[in-house]
Amino acid sequence: MSKIAIIGGGAAGLMAAIRIVELNRGNEVFLIERNDILGKKVIISGGGRCNLTTGFPDLKQILSKYPRGGRFLRHAMYSFTPSSMMEWMEDHGVPLKIEEDMRVFPKSDDGKSVVAAFEKLLSDGGVNVLLRTALKSVTKQGDGFVLSFDGRSDIAPDKVILCTGGQAYQHTGSKGDGYSFVEALGHHVTALAPSLSAFLLKEEWVKALSGISFKEVGLIFRGKEKFHVAGPMMFTHKGITGPGIFALSAYAAYEVFDGSATAHLFVDFFPDQNHEKLSESIRQEMSANPKKVFQNILGHFVPRSFAIALCDNLKASGGKKSSEFSNKDLYKVVDALKNMSLTIIGRSPGDEFVTAGGVDLGEVNPKTMESKLCPGLYLAGEILDYDGFTGGYNLQGAWATGRLAGESAGI
Ligand SMILES: Cc1cc2nc3c(=O)[nH]c(=O)nc-3n(C[C@H](O)[C@H](O)[C@H](O)COP(=O)(O)OP(=O)(O)OC[C@H]3O[C@@H](n4cnc5c(N)ncnc54)[C@H](O)[C@@H]3O)c2cc1C
Repeated sequence: MSKIAIIGGGAAGLMAAIRIVELNRGNEVFLIERNDILGKKVIISGGGRCNLTTGFPDLKQILSKYPRGGRFLRHAMYSFTPSSMMEWMEDHGVPLKIEEDMRVFPKSDDGKSVVAAFEKLLSDGGVNVLLRTALKSVTKQGDGFVLSFDGRSDIAPDKVILCTGGQAYQHTGSKGDGYSFVEALGHHVTALAPSLSAFLLKEEWVKALSGISFKEVGLIFRGKEKFHVAGPMMFTHKGITGPGIFALSAYAAYEVFDGSATAHLFVDFFPDQNHEKLSESIRQEMSANPKKVFQNILGHFVPRSFAIALCDNLKASGGKKSSEFSNKDLYKVVDALKNMSLTIIGRSPGDEFVTAGGVDLGEVNPKTMESKLCPGLYLAGEILDYDGFTGGYNLQGAWATGRLAGESAGI
């Protein structure tokens, strides 16, 4: 029987605590959280609906959704797959649904129902939940540890599971202080950077397109490095966002935009049609409707306000009748739809969803989540140097690593 302290009551910490309880080895478990509630980030995730995992079944494909750390996650993820997570949640009274894009949510559309299920299990399992308790330092002493806090006495556990998260959305309690705890215990933290963020664009004309979205576009990022993804995107009043953009921002997490360095974004609004095919389709519509003004014809292919703004920006005479619209202007329009060039000048500050970088994965055993440098210390969740795309991958990473850490520490 051991005394085990879990630092951080987010997704990874909650799952680690419950796994120890499930093993039922008589361990004394402390779950230590600085906030006055558990799972603050779980509750706000997915716009408050909590996209808790993915409905895709193929683990190889799933692991490819982590630009960093996919290989490290293999064991944790095969041990506790997204479908295991779904089954586990439903067994604990949270019915789930898989949406069209394969994101998984509670049927209640309320992240609080997910946290409530954990709270019940913690209470049933006799876990000592210490809220409003911020860890100040952790030191190794003999075979165990000493945890120090402001305003309460030390705790001396045999094992520690550190699940303090990254440093995104700091008001949720994940302020990045976990990085200094692990460094004090001998670990290295890789370079940290914001991931899953919107981009700010230089072009003024696209800012008027705020709210216009596209289900599937091709996106090429060309900065220091080049990345290519396909996915949904939406214009905002400052730039561009959406799952496709988030995926690009994850690949490009370490690109620096400091005013002098910018990057280019090329958007293909019709990735399934080549230049000729798209021209031909528009031409057919024009021939069938010779009296209709061109921008209204284009409005059959893209949102009408986008068609008007595009023609204006290209100085193509979109207000002319189709029969009078020049081939030269049509070429310009199709060219912009197939390869629109935009200039990225930065990330939307402070609104990234996750932190890229974290505890060096070479220093953690992927089969147990135990530190290779400090026996008795386990690490799980976003504090580690892995991060995933949007779509439930980050929470799934936290559940799977948290569970494995709980399983290894609790035995
Ligand atoms: C707005 C937003 C929406 C998101 N939506 C989704 C989504 O829909 N699907 C998805 O998969 N991912 C989503 N994510 C990412 C996902 O929420 C995180 O990757 C995941 O919650 C990380 O879990 P974690 O347990 O590692 O860390 P966290 O959830 O960050 O938990 C860490 C906990 O440790 C506590 N803590 C930190 N330091 C201390 C200390 N010194 N003492 C005591 N306690 C401490 C914190 O208060 C916090 O509660 C979203 C993120 C954000 C910001």
